[in-house]
Amino acid sequence: MDIVANLRNIKTEIDASLLKSPNPERKVTLIVVTKNKKIEEINEVLKEEHFILGENRVQELKDKYDQLPPEVSWHLIGHLQRNKVKYIIDKVKLIHSLENYSLAVEINKRMTLEKKPMECLVQVNPAREESKYGLEMHEVIPFIREVAHLPWVKIKGLMTIAPEVNTPEEVRPIFKEMFNLFNDIKKTQIFDVDMDYLSMGMTNDYKVAVEEGSNMVRIGSAVFGPRY
Ligand SMILES: *Cc1c(COP(=O)(O)O)cnc(C)c1O
Repeated sequence: MDIVANLRNIKTEIDASLLKSPNPERKVTLIVVTKNKKIEEINEVLKEEHFILGENRVQELKDKYDQLPPEVSWHLIGHLQRNKVKYIIDKVKLIHSLENYSLAVEINKRMTLEKKPMECLVQVNPAREESKYGLEMHEVIPFIREVAHLPWVKIKGLMTIAPEVNTPEEVRPIFKEMFNLFNDIKKTQIFDVDMDYLSMGMTNDYKVAVEEGSNMVRIGSAVFGPRY
């Protein structure tokens, strides 16, 4: 597995997809997802000067945080339980999986001590899949309005995990819906809420996601090889 070649190839593909998208001038952030990967493999990515990494489990993020250099910008992309917030709150740049109010309250409480806001994305479950976390589309704006009152939780955008499908074209309508919601919220201009990041797109569907307006993709398998 040539990790460096894979990484370069993904960046080229992102640029190509950007050209087919509504605003090709924007920047797309690539988050390399390191779950189940060894430090040696991750080091290949860091050697390429890529320091933006994502983990979906608190324990794994903690372990890797201790073993990797401080330049790494960590993103928590998986489900976060309230009682685990304390383990990662001083380690992560962005939490992608805010999806209930009591979690927001806990993050707010912990950040009061840090005296700086935690940047979070609201996880949305547009296909209303039982197996996935996240709010339904119609719940998102009321939720954001509620969370906006918490001074140390800073909403920075939306995240979604698209359903698993055979061809990425099948999820294009979902990405379109997410992009519309993202823009609607932006236009609503809720106090203390920024719609800067739309985190959508993984190995199987990132090209379509970028074509439809994503500006943050989370990619594991296409970098490191298939999951095991
Ligand atoms: C594992 C994971 C990814 C990356 O998935 P790949 O298909 O390996 O690219 C992205 N987002 C989340 C939330 C994940 O858990």
